[in-house]
Amino acid sequence: MFVPLCQALVVASAIIKMATSIASGSAHLQFRETRCWRQTSFSPLVSQRCSNKFPWSDGLSNNLKIKKSHHHHQIPETQRLFQTVVTSCMKNESTKYFDFAVIGSGVAGLRYALEVAKHGSVAVITKAEPHESNTNYAQGGVSAVLCPSDSVESHMQDTIVAGAYLCDEETVRVVCTEGPERIRELIAMGASFDHGEDGNLHLAREGGHSHHRIVHAADMTGREIERALLKAIENDPNISVFKHHFAIDLLTSQDGLDMICHGVDTINTETQKVVRFISKVTLLASGGAGHIYPSTTNPPVATGDGIAMAHRAQAVISNMEFVQFHPTALADEGLPIPPTKSRDNSFLITEAVRGDGGILYNLDMERFMPMYDERAELAPRDVVARSIDDQLKKRNDKYVLLDISHRSRDQILSHFPNIAAECLKYGLDITRHPIPVVPAAHYMCGGVKAGLQGETNVLGLYVAGEVACTGLHGANRLASNSLLEALVFAQRAVNPSIQHMKESYTDHQTVSQWWDPPVVPMQLGSTILTKILKRTKQVRNELQSIMWAYVGIVRSTTWLKTAERRIGELELEWEAYLFQQGWEPTMVGLEACEMRNLFCCAKLVVSSALTRHESRGLHYTIDFPHVDEESRLPTIIFPCSMNTTWSSRQLHKQQIC
Ligand SMILES: Cc1cc2nc3c(=O)[nH]c(=O)nc-3n(C[C@H](O)[C@H](O)[C@H](O)COP(=O)(O)OP(=O)(O)OC[C@H]3O[C@@H](n4cnc5c(N)ncnc54)[C@H](O)[C@@H]3O)c2cc1C
Repeated sequence: MFVPLCQALVVASAIIKMATSIASGSAHLQFRETRCWRQTSFSPLVSQRCSNKFPWSDGLSNNLKIKKSHHHHQIPETQRLFQTVVTSCMKNESTKYFDFAVIGSGVAGLRYALEVAKHGSVAVITKAEPHESNTNYAQGGVSAVLCPSDSVESHMQDTIVAGAYLCDEETVRVVCTEGPERIRELIAMGASFDHGEDGNLHLAREGGHSHHRIVHAADMTGREIERALLKAIENDPNISVFKHHFAIDLLTSQDGLDMICHGVDTINTETQKVVRFISKVTLLASGGAGHIYPSTTNPPVATGDGIAMAHRAQAVISNMEFVQFHPTALADEGLPIPPTKSRDNSFLITEAVRGDGGILYNLDMERFMPMYDERAELAPRDVVARSIDDQLKKRNDKYVLLDISHRSRDQILSHFPNIAAECLKYGLDITRHPIPVVPAAHYMCGGVKAGLQGETNVLGLYVAGEVACTGLHGANRLASNSLLEALVFAQRAVNPSIQHMKESYTDHQTVSQWWDPPVVPMQLGSTILTKILKRTKQVRNELQSIMWAYVGIVRSTTWLKTAERRIGELELEWEAYLFQQGWEPTMVGLEACEMRNLFCCAKLVVSSALTRHESRGLHYTIDFPHVDEESRLPTIIFPCSMNTTWSSRQLHKQQIC
């Protein structure tokens, strides 16, 4: 069944009545000056479990299939020629034209860039150094069916069980089937993975997997993948990498009920200059949102920018209540010599340690996992994280212990050299003593809703990797399935992107004038900017504390409502402070923009969690402690026109065609 987007939106409007909307603040606190923000025909923000009219595999999914607008056909030959010339060159310092803009330089962005570069010019836009990404920190590996005794069906089954039966089966089949080929391609590009004594790839086993199927490079798999991909990117003349370019907002226009993406505004955080990228196709590959929590394994770049940008650009968002807490991040306070400076991100003790026989003990050296689950330490992450959380709360302890010291020293050092070295820095020899561990926010299962080719409901906008919600993970991600998902969807988005690029007819030079550019707030002066920065840092900490206290591993309706109220108040208070200091709606700065995005993502998580009246996978609430079969549907957040806060609106006015 194909349901056109407009029809989907009509249905969406129809279900508003039963929906819970999130408090996004009151209109009078908007800005000091009144601005006319366009009210679109979209429904108010709805956090709603998708009804049977929108199952993953037909309804909305089909909507998201590339909609070829009738305008996109019959492009005059001369115009096409003109575009080819224009789009492959850069206009000036502040506006650049590319066929493809890729936001993010993790595995998803880089893998996609290398493929589309065979067909046009590519800008890879990334907010820090190119390697700085969740990908670079991935330890365990990439799952794939590569051993004859394993099967696609088995990998699918493990994924679906871990996902608490909320996964989209079609997506799971696609990813598990195409995975092995994506790994072979990575190897052909120069990625080097560990081999066993028989000369074959060494396949590790992790929690939730019923076979050895994790391809890895010791415990630094992500670093190796990132290294190989960046090297290939460097050698590609069609790809330009723009590092330290922070993507602020997608540039969109509205044509009837179609939203169209034309690129992105960025700020070069080294020169403080605004740079506009106009592109025929944009891939959002900006990773996760771990920093909505104070304790996370994600590097500082993971502030949910892509999800927030897409939400503001009217993209459909899904399953944001499913935040994965990794059960075993290193608990610094339990180390013999604790670090003197707190870390930007918690150091991860990979799942593979449990897969290799690691045992969890409380501080009285009692093994507790068998009391919670028959799979003990090999239970899926959500079960292990909740069990640790329970132990910590019951015993009032700060951490538990993960012991691998019963394995041989050689085996530990060859499988986990990075973890062994990190612990040794702080006086802990993991070959002899257990490792202090505690759960930390790790992975965002929800994100921008994508169809099977990474397409979104915004024309010209594709998503891949952690920013996307493809339906693979359902209510919980199976270990090592995310690098795999990123590889598969980066590849699947390639053909439709190329087709869209070829059919794109817009005069990009005209398009570039459509939106007022963002402004760097130099005129406010350093004293005011320092004050704003200081307050923004405090607000960021406050938001993270609220999320940890009320929207953590175990939730309740009362806590979620408290979070909703307190986040709403904090956001209004912060925005009011900014505008009192002379800040204007079009002003941009790295910290303020990240803060907008953190607010936006936190609110999406809370509103999604509030509408799920059951406990499933990563979402556990004491008020609805059981799985409810009637609720076995993804949560869908539709675009919203009633966005009264600065964080929830695009900086520029929407262009109407
Ligand atoms: C410690 C750790 C261990 C992990 N271990 C594993 C594992 O063993 N196996 C597994 O499958 N998965 C693992 N994961 C998860 C996995 O690494 C990620 O889900 C995956 O790498 C995401 O890839 P990505 O390309 O989508 O995003 P990332 O790799 O996070 O890349 C995102 C990119 O977007 C850029 N960006 C973000 N916002 C902006 C902006 N506003 N403007 C410009 N650029 C922006 C970032 O700088 C970055 O370059 C782990 C994650 C962590 C944190």
